[in-house]
Amino acid sequence: MNQETDWVEGKIALKIGGLPFELEMTVPAKPVTARRMLPVFQQMSNSFVGLSVDAAETAGRKVSCKAGCGACCRQPVPLAEVEAFAIAALVEELPEPKRTEIRKRFDDACRHFTETGWFDRLERVGELPPDERQKLVTEYFSEGIPCPFLEDESCSIHESRPLACREYLVTSPAENCAQPKAGNVEGIHLLVKPSATLCTITKTENMNPAVNFVPMILSLRWAGSFEEDESGRTGEEWMAEFFKNLTKSEIPGFGEAPRTN
Ligand code: SF4
Repeated sequence: MNQETDWVEGKIALKIGGLPFELEMTVPAKPVTARRMLPVFQQMSNSFVGLSVDAAETAGRKVSCKAGCGACCRQPVPLAEVEAFAIAALVEELPEPKRTEIRKRFDDACRHFTETGWFDRLERVGELPPDERQKLVTEYFSEGIPCPFLEDESCSIHESRPLACREYLVTSPAENCAQPKAGNVEGIHLLVKPSATLCTITKTENMNPAVNFVPMILSLRWAGSFEEDESGRTGEEWMAEFFKNLTKSEIPGFGEAPRTN
């Protein structure tokens, strides 16, 4: 597909959780792949998370996450398929010896969770009762395996981090995240969840519908096992689908005057 594009500017005005929300975006006018749209989805995710943070702060709660606190980076980070391909490409582009080091971290983590049977249990999640599903997350966390991109307890791919990582913010004491117990970790209440929307609108027949995401540590294997979906939509079509899934309602026309680069 020819990825040369013109651009279209647009504005979306809607209410989320009763709060007015306006977003101005510039998106490709011609059909592009989901991967090409990923920076737009990331930018939108930042805006939505910001709205949820504002709502929490208005209610007197303050985000306690800070640089150098990577306790939450030991969770099974859920990625959309497009993010799994983007992460694999990012690792491919790393300079040596970093690329080999990061690949080894992915391999070691995958081997570990294969041996514990965690991946098998995840594949069968659709058959498990809700409390067993939740246990899968705590089981993973209790193994203490850091995300391959965690360096000195900070994210080494901050600008490119998955949408799920952008959404994970807490207002409880930061030290509680390392020793989570029932009720001692209070997350920001998300008014909407762009990470789940991205998983849904980019999923292919390769995805187990009961799982609906790719665990971060499987992303290199995923990208090595499946062909990336190269089908394209215009930026406006992507935005319409994204917002429709996110808000469960139709969004009025996005595009205004086309702008040519
Ligand atoms: S990508 Fe970054 S923020 Fe997300 S889990 Fe890994 S280190 Fe943490």
